[in-house]
Formats: sequence, C-alpha cells, structure tokens
Amino acid sequence: MKERREFLESMEQVLCQRRENIMALVAPEVRDDDDTARQVGDSADEAQNISIEKLKNSLQMTELDELRFIELAIDRIKKGEFGVCLDCGEQISQKRLEFQPLAARCITCQETAEG
Ligand SMILES: [Zn+2]
Repeated sequence: MKERREFLESMEQVLCQRRENIMALVAPEVRDDDDTARQVGDSADEAQNISIEKLKNSLQMTELDELRFIELAIDRIKKGEFGVCLDCGEQISQKRLEFQPLAARCITCQETAEG
C-alpha cells in the first residue's frame, strides 16, 4: 500500500497522460486553448467549457465523456476529494482506483447503482 500522497501523485500522472493521449486526437489550437484556460484560475471552468464545445466537433462522444471524467478526477485530486465514493463517502480502495482511475463509487455502491 502506497502513501496516500504518493498514490494521488501517481494517479494524477496516469490521468494527465491519458488526457494528453485524448488531446493528441484533436486539433492543436484546441490543445493550446486548453493550456491557456488552465492558468486562468476561477474562469478556467468557463474557458474549459468553450474548449469542450470545440471538442464535440472533433471527438467521438465516448472520448469526450472520458475527457470530462478525467478533468473531473484531476480536479478532485487537487481538492483532495479524489478516491472518495460519491454515494457513501468512504475511501475507494487504491487497488480499485489503480485498475479504474475514473471510478467515482466504491465497489459496493457501484454494484448497487448497476442494480
Ligand atoms: Zn460507496
């Protein structure tokens, strides 16, 4: 079991790498916009939404969805909320997150949600 901080850093790296891979599929100007938006702080969300609008034209919906989840996960890492189950608030196991970095629920709640 890794230190939590170390674990979060490795997760962020995995997510950023994955995001780069998806971003590599889109036009360079979209990527540039995204980098700029990232440094604006509070208005970043708004700018990011504009980029997402552009992405809709060039990405398949599945990739776009994944990109949004990745952005959300990275945001949660920065806020210290990553790996907390959305439903029950318990820590999701590191093993599960390593296998499924975008998991938003613990196994128990996921199984309940999937019915
Ligand atoms: Zn849960």
